[in-house]
Amino acid sequence: MARIGFIGLGNMGGPMAANLVKAGHSVTGFDLMPDNMARAISGGVAAAPDIAGAVAGAEIVVTMLPAGAHVRQVYTGPGGILASAAKGTLLIDSSTIDVASARAVAAAAAEAGMAMLDAPVSGGTGGAEAGTLTFMVGGDDSAFAKAEPVLQKMGKTIVHAGGPGNGQAAKICNNMVLGISMIAVSEAFALAEKLGLDHQKLFDISSKSSGQCWALTTYCPVPGPVPASPANREYTPGFTAAMMLKDMKLAQEAASLANATTPLGAQAAQLYSLYCSQGQGNMDFSGIIKMMRGNR
Ligand code: NAD
Repeated sequence: MARIGFIGLGNMGGPMAANLVKAGHSVTGFDLMPDNMARAISGGVAAAPDIAGAVAGAEIVVTMLPAGAHVRQVYTGPGGILASAAKGTLLIDSSTIDVASARAVAAAAAEAGMAMLDAPVSGGTGGAEAGTLTFMVGGDDSAFAKAEPVLQKMGKTIVHAGGPGNGQAAKICNNMVLGISMIAVSEAFALAEKLGLDHQKLFDISSKSSGQCWALTTYCPVPGPVPASPANREYTPGFTAAMMLKDMKLAQEAASLANATTPLGAQAAQLYSLYCSQGQGNMDFSGIIKMMRGNR
């Protein structure tokens, strides 16, 4: 069993660290927020007073932080991971961040004598608690081979997507599809309502036809056809509109840097931005259907 440092013990990192403890690993954690630190301690994580304390003696360090700026700071800032961890430590960042930051930090880690993987996840807080996350991993083969058994304690599906940054690339491409397809499904239901077509009838037909997609069949934005979808509980998340907006913006940033043309992604980012600006950022992203039908 490994000695693991874990930095960022929030909604995702807290339960992920607890699953590593349950698997028999020795986990030492650090978070800036005392409440999150306390919750992690109750899950069996040993508390460190700072980053250096969390990474001291660790074979593997996992980070689960809000955004690229936090990851850059925690890795390359004074007293950060690269200044504090021993050469040869395996670094795994599971935050969802921009591809450019992921590649820059991986290069800085290599210079400091440490292999780094970007390993963002999908599956949300439910998946983090149940240990059923999907990990999309970027980095070299030997680092991936070493990380895989540890990631398996926090997730069910582990995919090696290629070199550094490719885990983040996979994550934002996938979420761009989801963000766009949720708007498409919402528009279709809003149109069906105007045409007098019943929700269930549209669902029954489309879910067996060429309109079939995850946003429709697993996460249907109207109540009824998929009882577990957030539409059945007034759009309490699930996956917040603010998080979807973050991922759509990351996709646009990456598209701009790579000279890729993503007009529907750009339009979808604008629509989630508008929805969030109406005070709906903490609602589930599928609640965007209300905006599509004029806030009803
Ligand atoms: P969160 O805000 O609950 O947790 C982030 C934690 O990082 C906080 O506890 C914060 O105090 C800590 N932190 C920030 N800066 C720090 C620093 N310098 N040192 C130590 N700790 C620091 O966020 P979350 O929901 O756990 O999400 C984490 C990441 O996972 C994000 O990148 C998010 O996009 C991604 N993600 C979240 C979900 C979800 O459903 N919540 C799903 C998939 C991916």
